[in-house]
Amino acid sequence: MALLKVDNINVYYGAIHAIKGISFEVNEGEIVTLIGANGAGKSTTLATVSGLLRSKTGSIEFAGESIFHTPAHKMVNMGLAHVPEGRRIFQQMTVEENLDMGAYVRKDKKSAILETREMVFEQFPRLKERRKQIAGTLSGGEQQMLAMGRGLMSGPKLMMLDEPSMGLAPILVEQIFEIIQNLHKQGVTILLVEQNAQMALSIADRAYVLETGNITMNGNAKDLMNDDRVRSAYLGD
Ligand code: ATP
Repeated sequence: MALLKVDNINVYYGAIHAIKGISFEVNEGEIVTLIGANGAGKSTTLATVSGLLRSKTGSIEFAGESIFHTPAHKMVNMGLAHVPEGRRIFQQMTVEENLDMGAYVRKDKKSAILETREMVFEQFPRLKERRKQIAGTLSGGEQQMLAMGRGLMSGPKLMMLDEPSMGLAPILVEQIFEIIQNLHKQGVTILLVEQNAQMALSIADRAYVLETGNITMNGNAKDLMNDDRVRSAYLGD
């Protein structure tokens, strides 16, 4: 079943036509990746799904309901978490306070929220060790973990990750991708935006290739990894 269904969206920044009528879907239980070069429109696509930008046309459905006009904060409540590019954690707050902020939309019991926090700490032991540390003093990799942990605190069905590997050393990139796979195993559906096509395709079920606002290819991630056009444009062959 399609958890997220995006149909024919067009997004503009003033006169710039950034997204040109794209359609894609993410089925429950999948890891889907959107790959593409700098400026292809990946971040714009995620921001449009999460309600930070609006499409002039088409439709967007999440769990069978239209979210085309839904305010961003309500979407978090519906189970859609967006971990933006550049992490955007609350720099002046502690790790723990950042995680609490991620749960602020939840209306369930405090005990359920604490349970989620334990799950996040299990997933990211480093955050547990540093729970009292001011977030702005964490390393880049730790800040990425915190951004993902904060997203998880809302109890999402779908997690949209924007360039989680950006600026990280190779060993940390591996670690972040392992964590994404763990979250997926625990039942979170993932929409992953990456410039690191190699890593993204290696963990995804399906992929879409975005080029200057158009989807030019899509299919099974393994097939795309073996496609000559993808290999030469995105995998450095
Ligand atoms: P990157 O990996 O560099 O973030 P991206 O694929 O996520 O790339 P977007 O950030 O979505 O690409 O940008 C898509 C297009 O929209 C680019 O041409 C970009 O210059 C333009 N764009 C993005 N944000 C704005 C903005 N706030 N104002 C004007 N143009 C913008």
